Amino acid sequence: MTTETQFPATVDVAVIGGGIIGASTALALARAGVRTALFEKGTLACEQSSRNWGWVRTLGRDMPEVPLAVRAHQLWTDIQARVEVGYRRNGLVYLHENEADAAANETWLREARAHGVQAEMLGRDAALRLLPQSERAWTGGMYSAGDGVAEPQIATQGVAALAREAGAMIYEGCAVRGVEKTAGRVDTVITERGAVRAQAVLVAAGGWSRLFCGNLGVEFPQLKVRGSALRTEPFDAGVSLAINGKDFTVRKRADGGYTVSQFSASLAEIVPDSFRLMGKFLRTWIANNALVRLRFGPRFFEELAIPRHFPADRETPYERCRVLDPAPYARGIDQAWNRLVHAFPVFRQTRVAQSWGGYIDVTPDAMPVMAPITQAPGLFLASGFSGHGFGIGPAVGETMAALIQGKQAPVDVRPFRLERYA
Ligand SMILES: Cc1cc2nc3c(=O)[nH]c(=O)nc-3n(C[C@H](O)[C@H](O)[C@H](O)COP(=O)(O)OP(=O)(O)OC[C@H]3O[C@@H](n4cnc5c(N)ncnc54)[C@H](O)[C@@H]3O)c2cc1C
Repeated sequence: MTTETQFPATVDVAVIGGGIIGASTALALARAGVRTALFEKGTLACEQSSRNWGWVRTLGRDMPEVPLAVRAHQLWTDIQARVEVGYRRNGLVYLHENEADAAANETWLREARAHGVQAEMLGRDAALRLLPQSERAWTGGMYSAGDGVAEPQIATQGVAALAREAGAMIYEGCAVRGVEKTAGRVDTVITERGAVRAQAVLVAAGGWSRLFCGNLGVEFPQLKVRGSALRTEPFDAGVSLAINGKDFTVRKRADGGYTVSQFSASLAEIVPDSFRLMGKFLRTWIANNALVRLRFGPRFFEELAIPRHFPADRETPYERCRVLDPAPYARGIDQAWNRLVHAFPVFRQTRVAQSWGGYIDVTPDAMPVMAPITQAPGLFLASGFSGHGFGIGPAVGETMAALIQGKQAPVDVRPFRLERYA
């Protein structure tokens, strides 16, 4: 853990959360000469940003996110040129087994091309040539040679190192307990090390953003889904691109192994917020019931014990839980592994080295909020990335830095306003 020795009394911008979103925003702000301090309750990337699959993709995104995904590749390239984050454009393919999937992807790609996505539809033979190791009868795929991956274990730390170099102050093991206002405007963060005055405050607190905003009287409809993944020992299967095989996913890692999972290795644990937000999420649950399983378990009581309103002058839930570290959903990742081995028998030659879980923060429309909070002037929110915020992280940082400085954002941010849930 690294911690600055000096603790500031005043900054221009305080960033809450040291995941890829907070670190990328701190980098963009510091490069613009804005005096920025980032506060992380645990260690950098201790939650979602180190636990994800590592995909950096333009493919398959909701259209409003596509410009961010295209821009993110340019920014990852620049970051990788300065610090090792494991970013490489090895290609990414969504494989098909039926005409309906192919038609849906073709329709998506037609629209996405207008926003700068470069990809192609592959027929059966082209898919076979791309993946000769596979023994499954794919009918084709949607392939982007320019999509790729970065390494979640080092990426946020790399971005944070660049932010520090540019002048940002980064405090790990330092929870922000709340904020204070003067004349209705947020102008101070209360951290466990003391108060820091700031002209603007960004909440980039991942799965904690709903609690943080709620404590200030701002309603942010966000739940958490438990995702899981595994990695193999170092091994060469002859596969270097990232693959979405619909019921499994696999991608090559910089350490020589592979990260394996599936979209349906996800559990939506029933918690008190599930009932409070049922009206907003019901349609999403129904639409995704093949991918996300609803579960009742101990998490209900853990979240029930977390107060929704609390003062900032004593220990808060953020200090009581420094790192959300759920167990992996064993059945979901076992299934993914078996399906991978079935499709690519070459994987029988390796072993599973590790598996892990991570809470994914989700919104009702599976798109993030990236916006100023009109109810609380001075406060900004960048959260709810719904399982796909890692790849676009640097572009989100650039966008949030522009919004915070009152400048024109590089992408259209209207679809990301909080008010869409009102
Ligand atoms: C299993 C899994 C697979 C995924 N796969 C992909 C993928 O392949 N590609 C992709 O693009 N995305 C993927 N994602 C999603 C991606 O990881 C997230 O969208 C992204 O990391 C979100 O970043 P963040 O900075 O918003 O949140 P986080 O990384 O969760 O960071 C938030 C930080 O805020 C800190 N914090 C919270 N409250 C406070 C407080 N009060 N004070 C101080 N600090 C606080 C937390 O400790 C945490 O470190 C996946 C996620 C998971 C779990």
